[in-house]
Amino acid sequence: MMADQIEIAAGRLREGGLVGFPTETVYGLGADALNADAVAKVYAIKDRPSNNPLIVHVADVEMARACASVWPPAGEVLAGAFWPGPITIVVGRAESIPAVVAGGGATVAIRVPGHPMALALIERFGGPIVGPSANRSGMVSPTTAEHVRAQWGDEVLVLDGGACQRGIESTVVDLTGDRVRVLRRGMVGAEQIARVLGCEVEVVDGIADADGGALASPGLMARHYAPGTPARLIDDESEIGEGAVLLAISRVPEGVRGIAMSQDAPEYARRLYAALREADAMGAKEILIERPPSEGSTPENTAIWRAIHDRLRRATG
Ligand code: AMP
Ligand code: MG
Repeated sequence: MMADQIEIAAGRLREGGLVGFPTETVYGLGADALNADAVAKVYAIKDRPSNNPLIVHVADVEMARACASVWPPAGEVLAGAFWPGPITIVVGRAESIPAVVAGGGATVAIRVPGHPMALALIERFGGPIVGPSANRSGMVSPTTAEHVRAQWGDEVLVLDGGACQRGIESTVVDLTGDRVRVLRRGMVGAEQIARVLGCEVEVVDGIADADGGALASPGLMARHYAPGTPARLIDDESEIGEGAVLLAISRVPEGVRGIAMSQDAPEYARRLYAALREADAMGAKEILIERPPSEGSTPENTAIWRAIHDRLRRATG
């Protein structure tokens, strides 16, 4: 049954169509990465700015090398340490990858997703697929097949691989400059990357305006990953106003509509986008988010809290 679905989905990709597919981070909107027309459909349906490049999803390191003009030793090391997994590597773009994939740039972002259904799809299709988050640009990323169906209905075939295990987008690491740079925080922290590579890693933590132009990574827009209802972070219960819904870590005060969030960083990340969607659907005046801790019990958890803070900043930006 599942094999049939994957064959049908791979067929759609071969025809230049779009397929929603699960990864461990969020659901992606797949298209043949070597077919410029198919890739153009992805930008169009997402209403994504054409300068915001897509991540190319591959089944293994060999396929990654084929997408790169140069595959640096650091790419090999990161792939060995973290793939399949939530880390995206930016390298020089091979000529076989159409410019539209890269927002017109000379580089390309690549990753091997850590989800068996995503890997099965890429393998069955037999080539790299683009896979931006399967939401309209700027909105909250989908973490269930239902979220994707709610967005696109019958327009997009969706493979259902359950709820995403990690819940927020991959770490994006740029290997094309003199220094290794994290362009987007994610589940793998800069410290872990630095340890594995044995070099310093810079984090580009700035938020740029929505115009994008000169950004290192145009996905770093101030307002992104955002629900429809205005959202803001709060530090104290006294800040809760009428008609608000609260994403609470400590407790939901009496008389307040709330959604309970975990104090555990991986669990919080896993739940975050679904919780924002639930809060949005409650028709509240405002979504209030209790500010999560900045430090976790381990360096890995601290990295996840930092990635969560990054997304919350954009959701409330
Ligand atoms: P999404 O697939 O929606 O999670 O977004 C992909 C992210 O990867 C965005 O933040 C992009 O700006 C970033 N990205 C993709 N390709 C590149 C690239 N070639 N150089 C820098 N950042 C990239
Ligand atoms: Mg996205």
